Amino acid sequence: MKIAILSRNNKLYSTQRLIEAAKSRGHDPIVVDFLRCYMNIASHTPTIYCHGKELNSIDAVIPRIGSSVSFYGAAVVRQFEMMGILSLIKSVGITRAQDKLHSLQMLSCKGIGLPVTGFANRPDEIEDLIHMVGGAPLVIKLLSGTQGIGVVLAETKQAASSVIEAFMGLKANILVQEYIKEAKGADIRCFVIGSKVVAAMERKAKAGEFRSNLHRGGTSRLIKITPEERSTAVRSAKILGLDVAGVDILRANHGPVVMEVNSSPGLEGIEKVTGKDVAGMIIDFLEKTVQIKQKRRVKENTS
Ligand code: ADP
Ligand code: MG
Repeated sequence: MKIAILSRNNKLYSTQRLIEAAKSRGHDPIVVDFLRCYMNIASHTPTIYCHGKELNSIDAVIPRIGSSVSFYGAAVVRQFEMMGILSLIKSVGITRAQDKLHSLQMLSCKGIGLPVTGFANRPDEIEDLIHMVGGAPLVIKLLSGTQGIGVVLAETKQAASSVIEAFMGLKANILVQEYIKEAKGADIRCFVIGSKVVAAMERKAKAGEFRSNLHRGGTSRLIKITPEERSTAVRSAKILGLDVAGVDILRANHGPVVMEVNSSPGLEGIEKVTGKDVAGMIIDFLEKTVQIKQKRRVKENTS
């Protein structure tokens, strides 16, 4: 298969591993910088170009789209979908996962465990908002934040109120969230492919920090997850429409709660900690998905 890996940088660990895994299975992977793609949204003949050349004869795409460029990235993936090319990760899943509020709303209505979360637009609702999530300490999050930047722990009600007011003053969209203290600065990254958690690791925040992001100095280790955590991760990915996802879970006293779902989870940490060939599993899954699509096409054409 000719597989287009949509990635900004072909030197990234995840991109490199996907290239290796695809080549070792006899495929022909190419790396496409999706920000350099441009599209013709013409009636009947949607097309996509990169560096003046039309991107055609591609069998499948693997999006690796960072959240800061997810709007354009999702549009490129959607264009491939419109051309009838299979994408491992659907554009709609990328759009949902990019927006923390959107994802939490979708997960909440399906009964997935979540930290109690509030969202408001006006400063006069701050008191109520703080009360709603159980008072301080609480977590305040920028909707579009990533790598732990824009996630603040407010220890007191007064601090919470000032931070919320400041963010609102800047017209930033924020979530106010129950602080899961008992997680002790650790979270669990569940790597989901299809309907399985294929690898999981615990990430722990460095001393004096509550955010476990590796970019914030957190460390990771192998962990055994419970059946409840496993099913929570798989269900969450499914609800957002993602066949491949990194589902981040906190261990709360009342069971697993989902913090966020990533549509382009990194491979480096999870492969190094677990020793598993996650890139290989992704390509195997893609092969199966393409085969199912082809069979369906043959059936439709012959019926
Ligand atoms: P980002 O998208 O920036 O990674 P997250 O929502 O994943 O934002 O939050 C970053 C980190 O902060 C998490 O990995 C977790 O360690 C910590 N954290 C986030 N929300 C909570 C919460 N409600 N309770 C406890 N810790 C939290
Ligand atoms: Mg996170």
